[in-house]
Amino acid sequence: MANVQEGIDETFADIVELESMCRFSDCRHETEPGCAIKAAIAGGELSAERYELYKNLGKENTRNYALKKQVSKWAKAYKKNSKRSMWD
Ligand SMILES: [Zn+2]
Repeated sequence: MANVQEGIDETFADIVELESMCRFSDCRHETEPGCAIKAAIAGGELSAERYELYKNLGKENTRNYALKKQVSKWAKAYKKNSKRSMWD
């Protein structure tokens, strides 16, 4: 699971950082007071659509997302080293 979290953190680093600034560490960014995510969306610093995407990825699609990232990473590496066998 560590790799999944790393991938998400990298792509949504700004959102992860905002989450860490919420008043409550277990903030769900819904009705909690002192929520940095809601403040950023209200202030136009964070796109609500992008946050929705992050939220959805965090739930059921995390595994698919990580898999896609892994596949594209592998494909890039494979293209780079196309003369070598991928099983080396
Ligand atoms: Zn929050």
